[in-house]
Amino acid sequence: MRFASLGSGSKGNATLVQLGGTCVMIDCGFSLKETEARLRRYGLEATQIDAILITHEHGDHVRGAGPLSRKYDIPLWTTRGTYSKAVLGKLPILNFLDVHESFVVKDLAIQPYPVPHDAREPCQFVFTDGQQRLGMLTDVGMITPHIEAQLDGCDALLLECNHDELMLEQGPYPRSVKQRVAGRLGHLNNMQTAALLDKLEHSRLKHLVIAHLSEQNNTPELACDALVEATGCDRDWIIIANQKQGFDWCEL
Ligand SMILES: [Zn+2]
Ligand SMILES: [Zn+2]
Repeated sequence: MRFASLGSGSKGNATLVQLGGTCVMIDCGFSLKETEARLRRYGLEATQIDAILITHEHGDHVRGAGPLSRKYDIPLWTTRGTYSKAVLGKLPILNFLDVHESFVVKDLAIQPYPVPHDAREPCQFVFTDGQQRLGMLTDVGMITPHIEAQLDGCDALLLECNHDELMLEQGPYPRSVKQRVAGRLGHLNNMQTAALLDKLEHSRLKHLVIAHLSEQNNTPELACDALVEATGCDRDWIIIANQKQGFDWCEL
């Protein structure tokens, strides 16, 4: 199993998970053209994608999903709640997922789980090849015991480090937006993510990716500082998913 990102942040998100001949895209927050161009960076064509999974209806996660699904006849998976709010248009193949029920796309087993975020029925995913587990978590305002249970003991984690509390507080956003971002249905700050990681059993952890960093209210240095302090992990080992490039394939 391996995973990569086409880009991560409030301007667009798309993550890839590949296992043998199976490839799924999680969210598609870039335009069709941009998504195709970003896929080519990894030598991939959209025809190789077996499914698009949508976590929630925010534009940075769905922007290109409908057009990509239509052009290449790619099945799309999401919750009924997300579908009711997302701008997706007519889809060739639509599968509704239950946030408490695992499903498979060819060889890849996928466990969705619900998260608190200001969307209709948001979820995140854990992927497994039967041996190893890759957990993803972005766009979440607070950590719940259920989230901890899902991510415990993973072999790879992709975790949101959206903002630094102080930078957000002192930054340029209007007060209402600051409250939304920092709130229980907003996004995780560096310390929340560090506390989560500290709590999780992470002796098997091979890759740690930090994602969905705010360009206004965070820096990769501050996010890394928080995680290094909480876990004692090696700073150079942490992978940063950025808006422009995402991150290159991580193999499990
Ligand atoms: Zn987002
Ligand atoms: Zn969101």
